[in-house]
Formats: sequence, C-alpha cells, structure tokens
Amino acid sequence: MKKKKNPKKDKLFDRKRINAEGHNNIIKLNIIPEPPLPYTRTVLIKDGNDPLFIKGYTTKFKFVCGKCGSILMEGIDRKQVINIVLKCNKCNSFNDT
Ligand SMILES: [Zn+2]
Repeated sequence: MKKKKNPKKDKLFDRKRINAEGHNNIIKLNIIPEPPLPYTRTVLIKDGNDPLFIKGYTTKFKFVCGKCGSILMEGIDRKQVINIVLKCNKCNSFNDT
C-alpha cells in the first residue's frame, strides 16, 4: 500500500524547484574583446540610460552583459538573435549573442 503524499511537503518542493529554475534563467553573454570587422556582424548600439535592447514575452530568460551584468535582452529565445553583437551602454563591452 502506497503512502499518501504530504501536500505541504510537495508545495515546498515545488517552490524550491521554481527558485532553482529562476536562477538558471539568467544567461551571461560572452564578451568579445574587439568590435567585429565591418560587414561581418550586426552590432547594436543603445542610446539612453536603459541597457535593455530587446524585451519579449515568450520566455523567462534574461540575457545579461558578460562584464557588468546589465540586462540586455529578456523574454526571448536565444535562437531569435543570431550573429548579433550588443554593445552594452553601461560598460561599452561587446556582447556576443
Ligand atoms: Zn555591460
């Protein structure tokens, strides 16, 4: 005979799991040391104070600058940004996507 699951315990477990996943949703982008050669990559440069380039609503991922940790993209899938370099407006680093 199986033991009845303790619903309180399950709830606690679920919350722990969600927290762990939440941590994994932050993806650090790789810094490239030099700006890419002209016509080889698309480099996006951001004006203003907000470092966020792209905000989507399809995922829970946050893509942060590999140097200063500013959020550059969120809510999108990595497959949606291919061959794009983001120049962080906080620390001027070139982030590979
Ligand atoms: Zn940065």
